Amino acid sequence: MRALFDADADLALIRDRKVAIFGYGNQGRPQALNLSDSGVGELVVALREGSASRARAEADRLGVTNLADAAAWADVAVMLFPDEDQAEVYERHLAPHLKQGAALVFAHGLAIRFGLIVPRADLDVMLVAPKGPGTALRSEYAAGRGLVTLFAVAQDASGGAEALALSYAAALGGGRAGMIETSFAEECEADLFNEAAVIWGAIPELIQAGFDTLVEAGFSPEVAYFECLTEVKLIADLITERGIAGMREAISNTAEFGALEGGRRIVTAETRTEMRRILRDVREGHLAQRLIADAKAGYPRLKASRAEAAAHPIEAAGARLRNLAKP
Ligand code: NDP
Ligand code: MG
Ligand code: MG
Repeated sequence: MRALFDADADLALIRDRKVAIFGYGNQGRPQALNLSDSGVGELVVALREGSASRARAEADRLGVTNLADAAAWADVAVMLFPDEDQAEVYERHLAPHLKQGAALVFAHGLAIRFGLIVPRADLDVMLVAPKGPGTALRSEYAAGRGLVTLFAVAQDASGGAEALALSYAAALGGGRAGMIETSFAEECEADLFNEAAVIWGAIPELIQAGFDTLVEAGFSPEVAYFECLTEVKLIADLITERGIAGMREAISNTAEFGALEGGRRIVTAETRTEMRRILRDVREGHLAQRLIADAKAGYPRLKASRAEAAAHPIEAAGARLRNLAKP
């Protein structure tokens, strides 16, 4: 693993460039604000016509431009809008206007990994992926810290792509926590795998299944909620601070014994086989294809899944308990 820090990055590189942030959402806003606070003076937010994000960017005292003008102006164009829209927006608004030798920066490898975007040969193409949500990117930076940030270079037309990627990552605060080298393929595949099979895919299903099992057996939804959902924060804090082995030392022998008996009855050899299948599905590009098909159809599958989650009785239990806690 190659891990680099502030001392390995030259902030002057990004401070000397015109930076256009395309999209002002989860990542766009914190990235723009961190860059600005790191001394990047020539910064614009690039938004589509009639964008709902315009008011927020203007309230943050940032200049707002349309997509094509921003592309023509920028030395560095940063792709911070949904992955499934990136190919179309790049083709229509960026590729025809980007300056010769400009740099294209991504926060996630999907569009490049699966060939949805094939950037012009004269461009530098880099990945700078903070490992965490945008809210944490901003709050950590403001507290003088940063998020671990992955970086990669897919195309180095200028010969300076890596130095510029490190400068950008450091301006986000990544050099305070560690900037770790990866590739577009590794970042993208691992990210999609985890989203599908581990943290975002499996944990919510596991919580709901545990809640359903208790409620079905006659337990009160509130007790089921406390057991199966509230303790997620506890274990998350323990395992991020101490590791899994360290977490085991911090819980009661009773809890530890239950975990030893139950864990592998739930995550079985069959579960691991299914994880490998999900990984294959990700690497062959099927998951990305289905995402794009869903987007083209107006997100019927995403919308149905949101509605299903909202209708699950665990939500009503959660709402009752959150109200209870209010003074
Ligand atoms: P968001 O969904 O928050 O992006 C919303 C922004 O993109 C809005 O400003 C929106 O403008 C604009 N936008 C949406 N569609 C279009 C379009 N078709 N054309 C132009 N602008 C558009 O995205 P995220 O910040 O969640 O993700 C951005 C990138 O960062 C992705 O590559 C993602 O994988 C990556 N990433 C995200 C993380 C996160 O914290 N969410 C973490 C690490 C990486 P409008 O108001 O006009 O709709
Ligand atoms: Mg992701
Ligand atoms: Mg308990």
